Amino acid sequence: MKIRSVQLNLGQKLGHYKLKNKIIGMSYFIFDMDETLAELYSVYYFIATLKNDEEMPESLKKSLDDSYKIFVEKVLNKEKSNEPLGILRPGILEIMKQLSNLQKQGKVKNVVIYSNNGHLESLYFIRDLIHLYVKSNNLIKECIHWDHPMRKEEINGRPGAANKTWNVLKNILVKGNCVADPDLKAEDVYFFDDLDHTDLKRNLGINYYQVPGYNFKASINRLSQIFRESTENINKNDMEILKNNVIKRFAKKNNDINTNSVNSAIEIILNIFKNNTKGTMGDNVYPPLSLDEGIKMMLQAIDRISSFKGGKRNYRLTKKKRTKKSRIKMHMRKSQMRKN
Ligand SMILES: [Mg+2]
Repeated sequence: MKIRSVQLNLGQKLGHYKLKNKIIGMSYFIFDMDETLAELYSVYYFIATLKNDEEMPESLKKSLDDSYKIFVEKVLNKEKSNEPLGILRPGILEIMKQLSNLQKQGKVKNVVIYSNNGHLESLYFIRDLIHLYVKSNNLIKECIHWDHPMRKEEINGRPGAANKTWNVLKNILVKGNCVADPDLKAEDVYFFDDLDHTDLKRNLGINYYQVPGYNFKASINRLSQIFRESTENINKNDMEILKNNVIKRFAKKNNDINTNSVNSAIEIILNIFKNNTKGTMGDNVYPPLSLDEGIKMMLQAIDRISSFKGGKRNYRLTKKKRTKKSRIKMHMRKSQMRKN
């Protein structure tokens, strides 16, 4: 008991997080995207149409920017509701809220999306949904996609094998937007993926959480309705241009476009999306609202860096004990660092 109180006093004098002006204990939360944060199968063509670098008139570009913002808002509103689309893994928004709060408390530095998906705009879409929800643009600092310039050694190392490695991740954290401490330790990095990336797992140990794959395919009809509402601002002339662009990029067979059709441009566009996106859920099928194993793992990780649990009852029962425990742990780490 005596030793403990001396340690606590010392810990208080040293300050909770600063030692020799060096910030310690700041964690990074890294998430794979597909089947971990979200299932984007149903929404790909919508994103690729709203966000593209095709040649088009300025007026259409401007309208598409506006449409994208409305689309993100509307999708988020559905995901927050009792009838979610299920693009996001149910519970992810709450996880991000907690991480955003921990960031404000100085316990989490940043969140990163680390994906083997090659469509960067899809990563940005997930980031934008989350940022709109947590009301901050500072949480997800980095979106690492397949073609990230610093992933060359992974891609070339074992062609075809979609490896994620500690060396590359650390490099991007340190030299990229997160500007992490060059001495960053694996113990301050928490990683979530539905796959087993051997090198990362070996380096991260218990901080590597392999979550069950989430693969709910959101209803294409519900997304189409949101798209219709989000693109009402596009004038008729621009919509014709957009339709021709979508035909050029995405129409796979001639029967995608019925030339005798009296359908409007928007319906032709949506028809192409639908033909390319088979087997999505029915309009009245919703993802399970109960917490799945993946979300439970994320909550466990959050619990490891915070002194409290989300639920009020747990908070009251465990706060004091956990706080003391974590202070001692923190102090022991500090004295270990002094010895080294
Ligand atoms: Mg995945």
